[in-house]
Amino acid sequence: PASIVIVGAGHAGGTAAIELRRLGYAGALVLVGDEVHPPYQRPPLSKAFLGGAVEPQALSLKPAAFYAEHAIERVVASVASIDRAARRVLLDDGRSIAYETLILATGARARQLDVPGAELDGVFHLRGIDDAQRLRAALRPGLRLAVVGGGYVGLEVAAAARGLGLEVCVIEREPRLLARVASPAIGDFYATAHRARGVEVRTGTRVTAFAGSHAVTGVVLADGSEIACDAVLVGVGAMALDTLARAAGLECENGIVVDADARTRDSHVYAIGDATWRPLPLYDGRHARLESVSNALEQARRAAHGILGLPLPAHEVPWFWSEQFDLRLQIAGLAFDCDTTVLRGAPADGKFAVFHLRGDRVLAAEAVNVPLDFLAAKQFIAAGTAIDPAKLADPAIKAKDSAR
Ligand code: FAD
Repeated sequence: PASIVIVGAGHAGGTAAIELRRLGYAGALVLVGDEVHPPYQRPPLSKAFLGGAVEPQALSLKPAAFYAEHAIERVVASVASIDRAARRVLLDDGRSIAYETLILATGARARQLDVPGAELDGVFHLRGIDDAQRLRAALRPGLRLAVVGGGYVGLEVAAAARGLGLEVCVIEREPRLLARVASPAIGDFYATAHRARGVEVRTGTRVTAFAGSHAVTGVVLADGSEIACDAVLVGVGAMALDTLARAAGLECENGIVVDADARTRDSHVYAIGDATWRPLPLYDGRHARLESVSNALEQARRAAHGILGLPLPAHEVPWFWSEQFDLRLQIAGLAFDCDTTVLRGAPADGKFAVFHLRGDRVLAAEAVNVPLDFLAAKQFIAAGTAIDPAKLADPAIKAKDSAR
């Protein structure tokens, strides 16, 4: 029988395996991953997990026994190379596994900061459960944590650490927080929110080194000054793990190039999740690398349907969320070439949404503690609804009722 091999047992790879069985695939199914944990959710790692209340097993997509029960063979090993001509993957322990269809789900890795002292004890990165356990052990009340990078992971860890009673300083190279991933209004809102809760936020500030002889004792800035600290979290983004695909001659940009149905140009190879460079059918086919659970799920489902020759589900609106303190941000869509911004509600109230429009169409929305506005935005984006910006800006009118 046809056999399917999935490389990378993370959120996307694990979901693809579960979905293939759910859809009735009865052939051989092998899930190869280099982490010992069964597939798990990463979002809590920078949030509730750091508080200590969540145990690693609680993050699993399915209990460990599920895989054997559903004849999903889990192989804990690193894939060293892919032989596309022979249709085999080669493991670093010398074994090889044949496939009829291969799904690459290798995800991304935390970007390192290439500065002196980056190897010191107490300098942490955060991608997996093991990283999170090391970081959590270092977050003790009264200690000083420096967070390098004012993106989602950095800010979520800053909020969690502050909640645990640490002194926290966030250092961001760009002039504002969330510069790559949110609008200025949202970046400014989170800077104010963090400062109000006692986090020191320094934007436009570049790190040139970490000080310390064995363990880190400070962060050295471009102006020569130093911020004293007991631990550092480096949260400066993630890079697609597309090296296997590149070495196998598959086309890669900022990630493995796939079509809207998660296929590569090799009809035997699919790719899904953070590792992919994908088209956005709801955005004139523009391309992006999306680092989100919603993207991992969508691509895993499309790949599973496509492999089994089943009708494909409808395209989904990309979405994302972040939790910092008591502020839940939900983002729908992507703000490509927008010409109008509509603010709904007041940031000072801690409940508001920023809608991004091109003409009278909503392309994206960022909602803080207003889930109904987020849901309305998702529906507008999916349906291409024409909007009346005046109605949308009026909190007395429900967001979903602001169609023209
Ligand atoms: P991963 O989950 O990273 O899985 C890839 C797996 O492949 C890993 O286990 C890796 O070790 C393995 N692998 C790689 N190379 C090989 C190889 N050669 N051989 C074998 N195995 C290999 N998204 C949201 O939508 N909301 C959030 O709030 C959010 N918070 C996050 C917080 C943190 C701290 C992190 C790290 C991510 C967060 N994300 C969030 C992003 C989300 O977790 C990812 O988009 C999602 O995990 C992507 O799934 P994936 O399967 O593509 O990659």
